[in-house]
Amino acid sequence: MQTTLAKDVSADKVDKFEQSLRGQLIRPGDERYEQARKVYNAMIDKRPGLIAQVADAADVIAAVNFARETKVTVAIRGGGHNGGGLGICDGGLVIDLSRLKGVRVDPRARAVRVEGGCVWGDVDHATHAFGLATPSGVISTTGVGGLTLGGGIGHLTRKCGLSIDNLLEVDVVLADGRFVTANAQDNRDLFWAVRGGGGNFGVVTSFLFKLHPISTVYAGPILWNLDQAGDVMRCYREFIVNATEDINGFFAFLVVPPGPPFPEALHNKKMCGIIWCYTGPLDKAEEAFTPIRRLGTPALDFLGPIPQPALQSMFDAIYPPGLQWYWRADFFNGLNDEAIGQHLKYGAGLPSMHSTMHLYPVDGAVHRVGKNDTAFSYRDSKWAEVIVAVDPDPAKIGGMIPWVKDYWSALHPYSAGGAYVNFMMEEGQDRVQATYRDNYDRLVSIKNKYDPGNLFHVNQNIKPTE
Ligand SMILES: Cc1cc2nc3c(=O)[nH]c(=O)nc-3n(C[C@H](O)[C@H](O)[C@H](O)COP(=O)(O)OP(=O)(O)OC[C@H]3O[C@@H](n4cnc5c(N)ncnc54)[C@H](O)[C@@H]3O)c2cc1C
Repeated sequence: MQTTLAKDVSADKVDKFEQSLRGQLIRPGDERYEQARKVYNAMIDKRPGLIAQVADAADVIAAVNFARETKVTVAIRGGGHNGGGLGICDGGLVIDLSRLKGVRVDPRARAVRVEGGCVWGDVDHATHAFGLATPSGVISTTGVGGLTLGGGIGHLTRKCGLSIDNLLEVDVVLADGRFVTANAQDNRDLFWAVRGGGGNFGVVTSFLFKLHPISTVYAGPILWNLDQAGDVMRCYREFIVNATEDINGFFAFLVVPPGPPFPEALHNKKMCGIIWCYTGPLDKAEEAFTPIRRLGTPALDFLGPIPQPALQSMFDAIYPPGLQWYWRADFFNGLNDEAIGQHLKYGAGLPSMHSTMHLYPVDGAVHRVGKNDTAFSYRDSKWAEVIVAVDPDPAKIGGMIPWVKDYWSALHPYSAGGAYVNFMMEEGQDRVQATYRDNYDRLVSIKNKYDPGNLFHVNQNIKPTE
């Protein structure tokens, strides 16, 4: 049984653990504790018994051994962005990787080695200097760890695949304290499992990613008035699945933020939009978007050539840490007229300026990897949907949750059945199994091998059978 730290672990044991660390151990009551326990979603208010801000893989080994030997709950914190707050726990020990910030680009091998505590902005900054990039998400403050281990969907998905499709190797500290490297040759079962199976199998101290020659992209949002949303969605569903893989575009219902660069006339207006990223030859970009630009008159056309990291961080300021977030998600194989009808109904009811619904394409290069080739199962779907109520005010978020639940329930009958693990909150074992489908049993057998005691259970948990 897992125990909380306060009751069951002697001060002596904790002191010895602290002395073994190169990094810092933070206890409740320490000056840094309140800041260190904060995660991105301010709805999550958990109070760990200890936070180990590790400095290297040796510290991670010490922390994993301490957690296993004392039987305390252990959470692994990468970027701290997880919607359900799975990077932190009540009581127990948090292995906080945020000091592991090393990024080393190897331009000759077109690869980047990234330490486990990096956020995507760290990676983009380092690789862009070499005119290279690897697929991540759409906000640069998201952690490399959680996003990658769940799959990784973003602006480069159609062109380069999921983040895991570009993962060449991981260094992992296992539940028994061993440090191993997993790649296409060594520990192949582990390498299969970490590509979609989340933090279930160990603490990843570093990732090695393949890089692509992507530097300046032709990108940005096009926004339309809500009364055009039906036409836009119907055009989008045909256009994107047939478009060159150089084009990525996710559909959104949104409220225009009240500030530059948006024109004042649009401030606080509910609208729909597509956020594009084109990675083909720049002199062909205008032509590539002609069918979309013919689709009525957009209220705002913000497409143009920009550095890839500028696209990756375009929405960071709208979504700073500390907002309240409530999430629901599903995968979709199609977008029929009835589903579009429901989207139009709920899209018009966005409950706050930050709330939104996104449909991210998961086709293109993602479909060229088999659904059993990595743990990420829903490769045959077309979109990952996420519906989020977001607001700075804790007093208001409760009133917005019914909009998320009703919207999700209205669309769920049209869904493929499971959801992207990184867009889920804590939703129970059935949802986790639905997400991994026929990969679930293999994940369980790999969990039995590497973490039979389920030390790493603060995640979308694959339960061992032993
Ligand atoms: C604003 C925002 C935008 C987002 N945009 C996207 C997007 O565009 N595309 C996308 O795919 N997802 C996106 N996400 C979802 C995101 O992928 C998940 O929230 C993910 O869990 C975040 O990873 P993290 O490391 O920041 O989280 P954390 O909260 O630190 O960790 C999340 C989970 O991953 C595990 N974990 C993290 N690092 C490691 C590690 N090194 N070793 C082992 N386990 C680890 C943790 O144990 C935990 O279970 C977004 C989330 C937010 C809040």
